[in-house]
Amino acid sequence: MLVLAGLDPSGGAGLLADAETIRAFGLRPLCVATALTVQTTRHALRFQPVAPLLVQDSARALLEEEDVRAIKIGMVGAEQVARAIADLLQDFRALPLVVDPVLASSSGAALFKGPLGAAAYLELMRGAVVTPNLAEAEALAGTRDQETAARALVERGARAALVKGGHLEGDAIDLLCDADGLQRLDGARIAARKRGTGCRLASALAAGLAAGRPLLAAAREAKAYVRGYLQE
Ligand code: PLP
Repeated sequence: MLVLAGLDPSGGAGLLADAETIRAFGLRPLCVATALTVQTTRHALRFQPVAPLLVQDSARALLEEEDVRAIKIGMVGAEQVARAIADLLQDFRALPLVVDPVLASSSGAALFKGPLGAAAYLELMRGAVVTPNLAEAEALAGTRDQETAARALVERGARAALVKGGHLEGDAIDLLCDADGLQRLDGARIAARKRGTGCRLASALAAGLAAGRPLLAAAREAKAYVRGYLQE
């Protein structure tokens, strides 16, 4: 599975978390860094996007040589990097794609340079399963209402939208919307504060799709994987 995401050297989120998840699903992670972040377990300090053509060349080389079964995109960090990835993806539209829009860390630090993060992810999510949390759904779809946001993202070209409810009060209920309609993914709230749940969920979902699982089953299995991670 190919991942394009940010490198968080602490391993809490980003590429290292993605690789851990993908291996847990029995697949081999191919990891292209889109940005280098300065992070510890507690703090996100700053980041530097990687040169767009370096990201594009690196991903293209892997896609052309390896038997890639799915692609996951996480943090892209900058508009030019997003555009380089979007251009590359034109040639690989047949592969399942999961896009986790990353605009800021849970501690509030920006993880996209400039004001055009939402527009960049709206472009990347065409034909993809997009997995925003509520803040990201609001940035992309203009509403924090889970159902309205999920439907709007599918209308704007996503294959499906999994809008996560972890930031709501009460249970962690996610909504999955695709052309067939809306499904509710229930989950009890787990009182744990851990980083990188969004990265892990999207990678687990992409791993399921890489293995040929139907979307709803892959989404449920991904949620169960994150539940396990939160309970570790
Ligand atoms: N760093 C990178 C590289 C990420 O991709 C992400 C989130 O997707 C984060 C940090 C933020 O993770 P968290 O909000 O769990 O701290």
